Amino acid sequence: MKFKAFLAMMLVAVCAWAQAPDTYPANYAKGPRFHALLYYSTTEEPAHVEMAEDAIKYFKDLTVGDGWILTTDTSLRPYLDNMDQFDIIIAVNAQPHDPAEREAFQKYMENGGGWLGFHAAAYNDRNTHWPWFNEFLGCGAFYCNSWPPQPVLLTVDVTNHPVTKNLPVKFVAPENEWYMWNPSPAENPDVEVLLSLDQSNYPLGLKDVISFGDFPIAWTNHKYRMVYLNMGHGNREFTDATQNLLVVNAFRWVVSQNPKGDPFLK
Ligand code: ZN
Repeated sequence: MKFKAFLAMMLVAVCAWAQAPDTYPANYAKGPRFHALLYYSTTEEPAHVEMAEDAIKYFKDLTVGDGWILTTDTSLRPYLDNMDQFDIIIAVNAQPHDPAEREAFQKYMENGGGWLGFHAAAYNDRNTHWPWFNEFLGCGAFYCNSWPPQPVLLTVDVTNHPVTKNLPVKFVAPENEWYMWNPSPAENPDVEVLLSLDQSNYPLGLKDVISFGDFPIAWTNHKYRMVYLNMGHGNREFTDATQNLLVVNAFRWVVSQNPKGDPFLK
C-alpha cells in the first residue's frame, strides 16, 4: 500500500512536470535543426588530408540522432546557385580557387552565410590573388609557421564569449603546425581574438623556430558570421577533449548566429 501511494505520488509529480514546459530544461528537436556542408580537399599535403579524414568522421559522429544534416564535398560547384541552403560551411582544408566558386562563396558570406574554417582553409599568399578573402578573414597573408608540429599552451583572451566561456583559461592543444599571419588579425578593429598562443611557448619549434610575437589562434571577424581556428594539421586534431569542446563551441556558435533564426531554439 505504501508502495502504491509512492507510485501515485510520483505519477502526480511527473504529470505536474510535464504540464510545466516553461520549467523543463531540455528542448528536443522534432527534426534536423540545420544543414552543414563540410568542404574539403583530397589533393593537399598528406597532413592536411589526414585532418580532413578525421574531421569528416568527427562531424559525422556529431550528427548521430539526426539532429542536423551533414553534406560532405570536395567542390562548391554543385551549390553555386543555392549555397544558402547551408547554415554553415565547415572549411576543413579547402578554399575556393576558381572564379565562379569564389564569387558564390563571397555572395554567400555577404548575405549571412556561416563559416567555420580550420588551418589551411585560410592559407593565402602573394599567389592567391583574392583581396576579398583577406578582408573576410580579417588578417593578412600567411607569414610563418613553427615546425615540426607540436602541442602548445593556449590562453583564452575572451573568457565570456560563447566559444570560450566553458574552456580552461589556459590549456594544452594537441600537435599542430601553427600559422602566423601578417598583418595579424589582432590589428583589425573588426576582429575579436578569442584564443592566443601563450607567450611562454617561445621559443616554439625545433626546426623552424618562432621566438616572439602576438600569435592569435582563434578569432571571429564581426563583419561576417565566421570563426577561424588555427588547428588542422595531421591526425591528432580530434584527440583532445578540451580542443574538441572548442571546436563544438565554435561550430554551434556560428550556427546559432544565423540571421534566419537560431536553430537551437526550434
Ligand atoms: Zn599544416
